[in-house]
This record gives sequence, structure tokens and C-alpha cells, in this order.
Amino acid sequence: MSSSVALRLPSIDGLLRHPACAPLAERYGRDLLLTGLRQLLDELRPDVLSGQLAAVEIGPEVLAGRVGERLAQQQRSQVRRVFNLTGTVLHTNLGRALLPEEAIEAVEMAARYPLNLEFDLASGKRGDRDDLIEGLIRELTGAEAVTVVNNNAAAVLLTLNSLGARKEGIISRGELIEIGGAFRIPDIMARAGVRLHEVGTTNRTHARDYQAAIGPRSGLIMRVHASNYSIEGFTARVATAELAELAHAHGLPLLEDLGSGSLLDLTRWGLPAEPTVRQALLDGADIVTFSGDKLLGGPQAGLIVGRKELIAKIKKNPLKRALRVDKLTLAALEAVLGLYRDPDRLAERLPSLRLLTRPQADIHAQALRLQPLLADVLGEVWQVSAVEALGMIGSGSQPVARLPSAALCCRPQVSKRWRGRYLLNLEAALRGLPIPVLGRIGDDALWLDLRQLDAEPAWLAQLPQLQVDP
Ligand SMILES: *Cc1c(COP(=O)(O)O)cnc(C)c1O
Repeated sequence: MSSSVALRLPSIDGLLRHPACAPLAERYGRDLLLTGLRQLLDELRPDVLSGQLAAVEIGPEVLAGRVGERLAQQQRSQVRRVFNLTGTVLHTNLGRALLPEEAIEAVEMAARYPLNLEFDLASGKRGDRDDLIEGLIRELTGAEAVTVVNNNAAAVLLTLNSLGARKEGIISRGELIEIGGAFRIPDIMARAGVRLHEVGTTNRTHARDYQAAIGPRSGLIMRVHASNYSIEGFTARVATAELAELAHAHGLPLLEDLGSGSLLDLTRWGLPAEPTVRQALLDGADIVTFSGDKLLGGPQAGLIVGRKELIAKIKKNPLKRALRVDKLTLAALEAVLGLYRDPDRLAERLPSLRLLTRPQADIHAQALRLQPLLADVLGEVWQVSAVEALGMIGSGSQPVARLPSAALCCRPQVSKRWRGRYLLNLEAALRGLPIPVLGRIGDDALWLDLRQLDAEPAWLAQLPQLQVDP
């Protein structure tokens, strides 16, 4: 057939009336369909004019199919579920803690119906959203009062600003940390209007250092749990109880930012010891701040707990209104806190704790089971083995501690100069799956740590779609 026979694109009106487009109009609406068709026809026109397309390529069914693919692509949500096989359980970039069923139900209820967010059902008067969890917090930590904000960074900012603005905040040089994402204690202090008064040295700070810093301009003493790094060797740190005594002798409040913090002693589950909120308060800290979505295993939130009159002062700060949490968070938080009332069953019911405490033998058995299946899909070029691996808690908790785990370790059987490219291609292919799979590259291999592979059937189901560029 001669290309001089001029092909013509179907008209927009004709396409819109064509039965192949009817389901698309139904699904996406006429406006989106019209825009999609116009764009596609505009793109195809030059090729049609230059005779590069055959008649079948511009038939109504084919065009409808192509527009349908585009619309589906556009419709796909940007917020996507992934498989976190990085080995880091509380991964900040992957949303940290997974909520327990109880919290998911509470969120659903709060999303679906009106609720008593700031309404006291007993008196019929206006209520306070913090009151919804105050009873639980008092029971679980021994604190007199609580207020909740958007995250722990906000909790630290709000507390510093409420209790120390225009005064000096005394803190050890060993605790002037950066948490990541540009959250640095000296900067937060400055933004809170607190003048930083650093004492001691990076590795050693003594009670007499704090003592010497206390003066008429002092507003508070702060202690920060150096969650994401560790100081080892020739070190000295003043115990919270001693520091509290010193602060109180001078009428100053002691703030303790625990970072992750924990409501229970985690060593009972074989995890590394993490300071508990109750102990910090017992030791004399007046205010303790900690995250909702780190070891607590709940929604993103910052909890500020401690002495009633200080919490009252914090709640009066206009910044509180700007940093407060929404109803979904509070609903989830209450449900998670409720689970802590039954510590014996906590590890079964709280996903983060269940995953953190999953026995290595269990994970290794899973790796052995999945190894031949992945090896089969990846083919000859890849050596896939089920190996022991070391994971991490994440979110700055216990940076030195490792969680004994097991992984599928994928090594490309190619010369050293090509390995990097093969690994990046495999990583990209895994990321391109319908539910992206995220692993970690290290030591000339790609590691899929299976500690968090709960949804094994969904993972297996998409495996045949894995296509790695050579
Ligand atoms: C993680 C952390 C924060 C910040 O908490 P977010 O909930 O992530 O805002 C603050 N202080 C310490 C010590 C931390 O470990």
C-alpha cells in the first residue's frame, strides 16, 4: 500500500460517541476523557501526516485503549503502599510505625462520624482534646498532665518556647544533637527564643558544669536523649535525678527530650534498654517529650507530659493551637495507648513491637522458602541466597543496636565493573512493581531483609512481573 493514501485521525466527536470510549466516560467523566483524547490526537497528528502510522494504529479501539491507560496512570494515587525490606523497622521515610487494628478502627470511626473532640459529654460543655488521652497517660506514665502536638520536634519547640523564652536554656555540649531533616537542638532553641547556654564538653559533663552556669538569666535545664549517636569511652553524664535536684534547688524546670522514649521496659522482649517515660518523671524531670510513631508504635505525634502547672502554661501558648493534632491522630493514639494496659499481649497486638521481636529463626525459614522462587524469576545472572542479616530499629532509636534478621541476598554474577549497574537496575525493577519493593544495596549485593514481610502472598503474586534490564 502506498503511503500517499492520506490517513485521517478520527474526529473527537466520533471517538466520544464510539462504544469503546463509553466505559472511559463512565469511569473518569467526560471532561477528563475529552482532554485525554485531545492530547493523544495532537501527539499522533505529525506521525499521521508523515505517513508513519498504519490505519490500525489509529482505530477507535486502539486510541480508546491508549487513553484509558493514560487516565488510569493519572488517576493512580501518589501516596503508595510499599514493601519495606530495608531492614530498618521504624523507617522515617517510609512512615515509621504501622498502626494496630484497634487504631485503624478508631481512625475510621473518627473519619466517618462526628465525635466529642472538644466536647465534654458529662457536662455538655466545651471540652479539651488533650483530655481524651489524659487518663491513659497518667495511668501509663505517672505524669500529672499531658498535651499532644503534631510530632516530637513540635513538642520540643513548644515546650522550650513556653518555659524558656527570653531566658537561658542550659544544656550539655554532648547533647547538642542533630536529629535529621535539619532538626538541630541549637537551632530549635534559637527559634523558640531560648538563649543557648552550653556546658561541659562533648564527652564529659559534670554536675558542677551545670551548677556554674545557673544564674539570674537561667530559665530551664534541658536534657536530650542522644538517640541517634552514641558516645563511648571516657564519658561522664549527670544522672537525671541529680540534675533534677540541682534544677529544683534553683527553682528551674528540668526538661527531658526522650526522642523515642518508651512506656514499658523493652528488655522484657529482648530489645535494647530504652529509657522509660515513667522513670524519667520518677527521677524528677518536670517535662518529658517523646514521639508517637517511634517505639510507642502509634501515629505521628509529639507527647508532652509532666507537671500540671507547666503543662497548663504550655497549653496557653498560642503556638499550641498551631501545632495541635487532628482527630484522626487522637483517635489512633488513644487506641494504641489502650493496648499498653495489657503488656502481656502487647507484642501480639502492636505491629511495630511484633515486627521488632520477630524471631530470627522465623525470618530465616521464610527466606529459605522464598529463595528458590526469587532465584527462578531473576534467572542465571543472579545468585540468590537466604542469609543472616542485621537490621535496625530505626528512627534514631538505638543506633548501635542490631536486630538479628534474615535476608534474600541477590548478587549479580558479572564482572566487577558491571555489578553496580546490575544492582541499580534490579533496585529500579523492584521499585517499579505495582507494590514497590524497597531493599538495600551493600557489599556488592542487593539485600531484601524479610523481618517486615508480613504480606507474603501479595509479595509473591507480583513477582512474575519483575523484569530487570540487563
Ligand atoms: C526523633 C527525635 C525528635 C523528633 O521527633 P519527631 O517525632 O520525629 O518530630 C526529637 N528529639 C529526639 C531526641 C529524637 O530522637
